[in-house]
Amino acid sequence: MIHGKNYIGFDLSAESSITFQTFSPVNLQELPGIFVQATLEEMEMAISKAVSAYEHYKTKSGKERAAFIRAIADEIELLGSSLIERACAESGLPEARILGEKARTINQLRLFASVLEDGSWVDASIEPAQPDRKPLARPDIRKMLQPVGPVVVFTASNFPLAFSTAGGDTASAMAAGNPVIVKVHPYHAGTNELVSGAINQAARKTGMPDGIFSSLNASDFSIGQGLVLHPEVKSVAFTGSFAGGKNLYNLAQKRQIPIPVFAEMGSVNPVLLLPEKIAENPATLASTIAGSINLGAGQFCTNPGVLIALKTPETDVFKEELAVQIRKLLPEPMLHTNISNNFERKTKAFFDDSRVDKLAESVKEPEGLRGRPVVALVPGEDFIANPGLAEEIFGPFSLLIECIDKSEMQKVIKSFGGQLTASVMGTSADFTAFRMQIESMQEIVGRLIFNGMPTGVEVCYSMQHGGPFPASTDGRFTSVGADAIKRFLRPVAFQNAPEDYLPDELKNANPLCIWRRIDGGLTKDQIKE
Ligand code: NAP
Repeated sequence: MIHGKNYIGFDLSAESSITFQTFSPVNLQELPGIFVQATLEEMEMAISKAVSAYEHYKTKSGKERAAFIRAIADEIELLGSSLIERACAESGLPEARILGEKARTINQLRLFASVLEDGSWVDASIEPAQPDRKPLARPDIRKMLQPVGPVVVFTASNFPLAFSTAGGDTASAMAAGNPVIVKVHPYHAGTNELVSGAINQAARKTGMPDGIFSSLNASDFSIGQGLVLHPEVKSVAFTGSFAGGKNLYNLAQKRQIPIPVFAEMGSVNPVLLLPEKIAENPATLASTIAGSINLGAGQFCTNPGVLIALKTPETDVFKEELAVQIRKLLPEPMLHTNISNNFERKTKAFFDDSRVDKLAESVKEPEGLRGRPVVALVPGEDFIANPGLAEEIFGPFSLLIECIDKSEMQKVIKSFGGQLTASVMGTSADFTAFRMQIESMQEIVGRLIFNGMPTGVEVCYSMQHGGPFPASTDGRFTSVGADAIKRFLRPVAFQNAPEDYLPDELKNANPLCIWRRIDGGLTKDQIKE
């Protein structure tokens, strides 16, 4: 039974008269549950609880925090089919996708728990004192990462679980030692409610303070903007549109004390199709690409929105194969009326441009909120003259850019802004012949994929999910994988600190047995007194 209230720490609250409902994009019906928008007073209360919770939570050991994060994963598992049914209903995504997302959410949480248990994530670094150094004695300097304070998470519409209430942003911010306040995405407020309950249940069971987690309902900008502007909020994580991310970033920079906004925004994820690969097996290549374009109705930040190839007879064959595959695709439900309307409006406007042709679209007329898969075609020269064509169209859309030669291909690549990913489909001879073009792609992305599609992001230590602006507001960081924790930490150096003041991570005896850099070398050794 959905109660529709806000979680202000462990308390439920519903003071406002403003309410909203979620909606099934499949049968176009409103779903049960009336959600009460948070008031500014409830927002203040959530922040005030987060500030108090931070004082307790930051003193918890890595093992204690790990137990909490593992308990969240366990509580989400216990939600069983109610979570799956609600997430499917609110997103229109098929059960298999939601089950996969749930597994990924749980694995992410457990990954951060194991990062905490290992302990070395604090990047401890020690240069012991050298009192006899000439001409100046060296002081004792020890540095490590520490949490920043309350973090606000804007959940993503396109991943109701894995980039949402207990997704990578929340898991990494909490693992780092920070309380989290979630600004609920109004498309999946019911899913949020179930997961928020699981987080607070895990907090109670593992002795975490009231206020370690809150979630605030809102279907307009008041609460989101109020959170970003609040002086006690220290950092923000966001996944969504360029306009939304950039607005929130600008807001945070105008504060008296600016704070970071880690926004993951739009990306067209160019795919370079090299000539030998195209000639090798055009049908298989076309079917792989078509499948990736329509995966989840194209509603992935890693959707292959641009394909780049040389204009050759082999490319003509590939184009025919791709057209066959695209025509066969079935329109899938999109997440919401707004997203579906945006997709329709933007594709229509795209084809109003006389330089653009339609290669193919699904032969099936879309019903309801389904997005019709479509591929456009433009000559390289026209693309270079009109960089607006590189703007993301969120949905099952891709643009094939045909270049007359390698030099034009190079110019096309250089005309892109920052991207989350780029892919290169080629043979080893292609990789040698087009090395310069591939290196140019590397300059603009966070992840370069060889002979694979950009959709599907592994959650692991080595993943980079974030690229130069405008893909992300800060391409030095990732929102997926173990390093996502680094967004919510800051380094502190201790100079000549007494041994008993130092955190365990920096004590001579290395009681946590973590990896530390001592005089520049990585070791688990103790420091002899
Ligand atoms: P969105 O419009 O950017 O909204 C995301 C969240 O941020 C929502 O909670 C929204 O609040 C809030 N928000 C947006 N602008 C704000 C502002 N100026 N001030 C305060 N809060 C603000 O994204 P969306 O709703 O997920 O989808 C809309 C479009 O975003 C899609 O059509 C697509 O183009 C793009 N998108 C891209 C990605 C990607 O990974 N590249 C992922 C998802 C969506 P409200 O909902 O209350 O308005």
